[in-house]
Amino acid sequence: MLKGIEHAIKLGDTNIMKSLEAELEHLKFENCKAEFGSREYWECSLRTVGTTVYHPVGTCKMGPEDDPTAVVDPQLRVKGVKGLRVADASIMPTITSGNTNAPSVMIGEKVSDLVKQTWLH
Ligand SMILES: Cc1cc2nc3c(=O)[nH]c(=O)nc-3n(C[C@H](O)[C@H](O)[C@H](O)COP(=O)(O)OP(=O)(O)OC[C@H]3O[C@@H](n4cnc5c(N)ncnc54)[C@H](O)[C@@H]3O)c2cc1C
Repeated sequence: MLKGIEHAIKLGDTNIMKSLEAELEHLKFENCKAEFGSREYWECSLRTVGTTVYHPVGTCKMGPEDDPTAVVDPQLRVKGVKGLRVADASIMPTITSGNTNAPSVMIGEKVSDLVKQTWLH
């Protein structure tokens, strides 16, 4: 995250961002005594305001048969377990670039099709 901040500051220092009068916001955190902009300052600020933004995904990653990190197959069946599917944000192999709620609803819709496909034939 520190590297990410360094990168963001570099981006802010580019001509195009300067032409847009972009400025680094000087946020003060009471418990961060280090000089603003120092590594210590950023580390303290991360520990103070770091958050997940509530969009966790990927703990039961969907993937092909030969992917040892995948928990469910493309039909959302748990590998090695009979009669169990997972259908929620946890099956996303990587996080979506947009918000996670609509894709979660899509996953639910998709699994209802998959269950019907299996059981109505
Ligand atoms: C504060 C907040 C704001 C958000 N804002 C947005 C937003 O603006 N836009 C957006 O797209 N996404 C937003 N999200 C993310 C979105 O809500 C989630 O991506 C989505 O709800 C994930 O769906 P899910 O079915 O995977 O999990 P969840 O919605 O968390 O559903 C899990 C369900 O499982 C139940 N459960 C848990 N354990 C058990 C158990 N042992 N037995 C039975 N039931 C169990 C829980 O009670 C819950 O109902 C936000 C999330 C939060 C927390």
